[in-house]
Amino acid sequence: MRISAGETLLVATGNRGKLAEISALLQPFGVDVVSLTELGLGEPAETEFTIAGNALLKARAGAAASGLVTLADDSGLEVQALGGAPGIYTADWAEGGMGRDFGRAMEKTWGLLQAVRAPAPRSAAFCCTLALVRPNGEEQVFAGRVEGQIVWPMRGAHGHGYDPIFMPDGYSQTFGEMDEAVKNLISHRAAAFAKLIEECFT
Ligand code: IMP
Repeated sequence: MRISAGETLLVATGNRGKLAEISALLQPFGVDVVSLTELGLGEPAETEFTIAGNALLKARAGAAASGLVTLADDSGLEVQALGGAPGIYTADWAEGGMGRDFGRAMEKTWGLLQAVRAPAPRSAAFCCTLALVRPNGEEQVFAGRVEGQIVWPMRGAHGHGYDPIFMPDGYSQTFGEMDEAVKNLISHRAAAFAKLIEECFT
């Protein structure tokens, strides 16, 4: 799917961090980025059972409500010894009475790995799917993945989410310890974006 300079693109996320990251990545291509908030729209419930399904669901809802070409992102952590969990429940594992707490989510991940006596290296991957949908029904998805392992204890104060317990293959630092510029070159989101840019803008 080609996207022309000057076209208005809706980024269907209520997450301000993702919106800023995606707007910066699209900035060189001259598209006009608008957010759900600017259009007074909300995010739909994520009722699908795969990361790609939830990315498409969010992009379809945005395109239908706005009449604009719409981009949505869904991501998650898959831990091999936990059968791919937390997967689509990655953000949910951080939910508690007082809002999201990723310390709790990381403790839970490590606790479950201890419970199943998973030996090192405890393989895991961060996955990201970007979905692009046009109101005329045209759809395309771009997936990115970064392989690594879960380490304990938590290391590093950079990044967000599960970054302090994820060490990508080929590196001795966790995403939480790594300079964000380095993370953003090798991350699951960067990999998915590289495919999108190749297809839509080059
Ligand atoms: P969603 O895509 O908004 O449903 O949420 C995905 C969840 O995956 C986020 O809340 C983060 O906890 C986690 N996640 C996604 N990408 C990263 C990352 O690069 N580092 C750490 N956690 C991430």
